[in-house]
Amino acid sequence: MPHIHPKTTPIYQTSVFAFEDLNALESYFEQPGQSYMYTRYGNPNTDELAKEVNKLEGGAGGVATSSGMSAILAAVLAVCKAGDHVLYAEEIYGGSSALLSQELIRVGIEVSFVPTADTYILDNYIQPNTRLLLAETMSNPLLQVLDVARLAQETQRHGIKLAIDNTFATPILTKPLDLGADIAIHSVTKYLSGHSDVTAGVVVCKEQEDLQRVQKVMMVYGLNLSPFEGWLAARGLKTLRLRMKQHCNTALEIANYLKQHPKVEKVWYPGLAEHPQYELAKQQGQGMFGGMLSFKIVDETEAVNRFMRALSGIPFTPSLAGVSTSISYPLGTSHRSLTSEQQQKMGITAGVIRFSVGIEEPEELIAELETALAEV
Ligand SMILES: *Cc1c(COP(=O)(O)O)cnc(C)c1O
Repeated sequence: MPHIHPKTTPIYQTSVFAFEDLNALESYFEQPGQSYMYTRYGNPNTDELAKEVNKLEGGAGGVATSSGMSAILAAVLAVCKAGDHVLYAEEIYGGSSALLSQELIRVGIEVSFVPTADTYILDNYIQPNTRLLLAETMSNPLLQVLDVARLAQETQRHGIKLAIDNTFATPILTKPLDLGADIAIHSVTKYLSGHSDVTAGVVVCKEQEDLQRVQKVMMVYGLNLSPFEGWLAARGLKTLRLRMKQHCNTALEIANYLKQHPKVEKVWYPGLAEHPQYELAKQQGQGMFGGMLSFKIVDETEAVNRFMRALSGIPFTPSLAGVSTSISYPLGTSHRSLTSEQQQKMGITAGVIRFSVGIEEPEELIAELETALAEV
């Protein structure tokens, strides 16, 4: 092979790596991180992704995983064993609460949630066996903003670990570890990769001890990411900062436009001064408020259908955070399995639409919205 020095990391699409001799094998075990053996244990592409996310989050290290869900699984299993208790914030991602309250309870982990109203006072929810609290920087779809520093003080007071799912905020807005959290988790599928073409996750730990446990769980449970997906995600990550600035700028303009529209009854966006956590969001997000917003039109399914059909350039896709704008419908997707009382209580009614604002210029989106809202 000629000596080649590529500017970017090539894709190491290989399941296994060769050793020159027994000495090379010995140094693999003696000098971790200096060479590779088997892709499930580590691969240059997935390591590059983990390293770059860790740099942004400011941890002791990161571990890339096959999805956001496997990142959450790895984080929980790294800290908890059968007989331990996990707390989660009431309004976390539906997949996360299903993982905890439907699956991990089957293997002997105790699980309960903290109601939103009690988020920062855990005395009534902590048990002697509580190890971990899982919460999110911003909730889906109504964008409640969590005061991470305040919650971290409370978890530290009780001697439990705090894991923050930072998918919606990204480290460009908020760095949970700097605010006292122990573990930051991402669905890389969303903003970090950013182009709606990857499913991946990452766990970043503040402490070496947690990191080693997450690494071990990833390897032994086989939660690893594939090299190609790692490469795609690492490529997307290079433009994260630029994309987030544009997502945030466009989202703020869209929120202001929707707010004054007569067919729009309510807008949820942390960047609007009337948002209940506006000041917190501003300070915790470096003056940026994210690319996600929700709004409510009339509570009629047919009106929503007319609106969706008329939005010809904006697809209805039940995911988020891509470079092109998409809408989602919480009542029919993420919040579908809740009872209608729970839906009502949370404010997820028939007219609530979630908008994942892409990196388009606001005028393009406003033109689309203007046409579609006329059909409502
Ligand atoms: C999408 C999402 C997840 C799950 O991630 P996948 O990559 O789909 O497995 C977890 N948490 C949040 C906040 C998400 O938006």
